[in-house]
Amino acid sequence: MKNLPYKALKGTKDILPPESFVWQNLEEKARRLFSHYGYQEIRTPIIEELKLFVRSVGETTDIVQKEMFSFKDRGGREICLRPEATASCVRAYLESNLSSEPIVKFYYFGPMFRAERPQKGRYRQFHQIGVEVLGANSYLVDAEVILLLVELVKEFSLEHFLLKINSLGCTEDKKKISEEYRKILLKRKERLCPLCQERCERNVLRVLDCKEKRCQEIIGDLPSTLEMLCENCRRHFQSLLDILSSLNIKYTVEPRIVRGLDYYTRTVFELTSELLGSQDALAAGGRYDNLIEDLGGPSLGAVGFALGMERVIIALEKSGKLNEFVEKPLEVFLITLGEEADKEGFLLMERLRKKDISVDMDYSGKSLKAKMRRADKLKIRFVIIIGEDELKKGRYILRDMQSGYQEMINKEDLEKLCKKIRGEQG
Ligand code: AMP
Repeated sequence: MKNLPYKALKGTKDILPPESFVWQNLEEKARRLFSHYGYQEIRTPIIEELKLFVRSVGETTDIVQKEMFSFKDRGGREICLRPEATASCVRAYLESNLSSEPIVKFYYFGPMFRAERPQKGRYRQFHQIGVEVLGANSYLVDAEVILLLVELVKEFSLEHFLLKINSLGCTEDKKKISEEYRKILLKRKERLCPLCQERCERNVLRVLDCKEKRCQEIIGDLPSTLEMLCENCRRHFQSLLDILSSLNIKYTVEPRIVRGLDYYTRTVFELTSELLGSQDALAAGGRYDNLIEDLGGPSLGAVGFALGMERVIIALEKSGKLNEFVEKPLEVFLITLGEEADKEGFLLMERLRKKDISVDMDYSGKSLKAKMRRADKLKIRFVIIIGEDELKKGRYILRDMQSGYQEMINKEDLEKLCKKIRGEQG
């Protein structure tokens, strides 16, 4: 239908069945895994004050500069649709005084909003599953978060992913790295794209995110961030790599990933999949040791990741595994013929559902043949038929659509009917 007056906004989409069942299934798997590791769900508002993200994600980042859906409300307050959830989690953690707890482990699901140019795998409303561990400095927590991400992706039946990992060091190291990079890049400034020329002045680490070929060539020559780490940060990173190896987690150290958000310190990581094409990042995360303090709390470390759900779905489609997550069909489809039979069938359905049997009927009044076709299309194993004759004789026809075998069952014998449907003897 081309000429409908209303359509979903560009870069947004409806998630319809059967895909919605895949989402539910994946979310259920994630919930089970997270609670196994001691994580609890947090649900924060979708709208927040604009300044929360300006302060946390960073004024010079792409997200803040050009991707936020922000507006003034009727009271003149500057509001925005959240572009990510880390800042909201930290705000909520501080607002609820949770920073007095030794450690807080959150997980979340939900939509995020970025006004990016839509393309396959890149939307304006997209969904993330993420975790945040707040109030923790140990490298073991970085390891736990990375382990959890890898386990999650495995739960989702995704293989062929690549974990890239790096360290940006503490605030002082980050400053040192930025200065060193600025010095080198300014010497080659005219070879950089106009945006990166500007980035050299305002936020030089952003140059490393540039996808332009000419910038990539220059970035490739920059020294590794790891060469500029202080002793403490170096030890933190090495301990993390060692424990990841002990966990048999495969990674590559990628000394030039910095991530597109300003709050990261020390560990940063990305999980990419070759199934995804140009938007190949499945998930990303890292440590943010200054954010809690920057947002008005005590000086406590934190680490987290966010995984893009749409990209998981694309990867499952590409690997032919989407069907593993699709809903199981109903057990029974009820076919009734005539008004009286409709009523009888309707009441029978409710009795079957109370016996934990999933069942539905077609209310359309179509022919037996049409209804049988529908049961077939829905891949439903059993059909119960109630026509005028069955009504009169007080019985139902139960047909096994797989074998084509059918038998009469007395309407009083609900137990027998249920047993047959469940495949039990008797
Ligand atoms: P980020 O918050 O930018 O670190 O992104 C974390 C993950 O969210 C990425 O690895 C993607 O899987 C997903 N993601 C980010 N932006 C988008 C987008 N515009 N559309 C779809 N997924 C996205």
